Amino acid sequence: SKPVSSVDASVRHLFDDMLETMYKAPGIGLAAIQVGVERRAIVVDTSKDGEERQPLFMANPEIVWKSEELSDYEEGCLSIPDYYEMVTRPASVKVQFLDRQNEAQELTASGILATVIQHEVDHLNGVLFIDYISKLKRDRVVKKFTKAQRLGKI
Ligand code: ZN
Repeated sequence: SKPVSSVDASVRHLFDDMLETMYKAPGIGLAAIQVGVERRAIVVDTSKDGEERQPLFMANPEIVWKSEELSDYEEGCLSIPDYYEMVTRPASVKVQFLDRQNEAQELTASGILATVIQHEVDHLNGVLFIDYISKLKRDRVVKKFTKAQRLGKI
């Protein structure tokens, strides 16, 4: 996806469309590419049912720091319905972005918010969470075989 030059009325309109689509799904994050727009824009809202909504609008989100600590979350994706898998990612990230008012912001996120931001930024780079799954699974299989080999089992 291509960078947003500035968050103007058209980008705000895109944000609103994305947010509506995300709430309707329902989901907790959405990237512009998922509504067919190749711009670097994501919306995120990790508030729980019944809580006040806390939408985050991010244009040109860039992850500038990732924690060494990792965490596992069972992820799903509006682009891959009814499929959930555990994904291991950095537990915390620092992200820089332009907000809805075109102001430069920096946010340090952890927990589910860190996971969602990484998942959505991946979409902008053409990466889906299943790309991690296959690699993880492959790595696990390789590890298992290497171990089995070492133990003389194969
Ligand atoms: Zn997704």
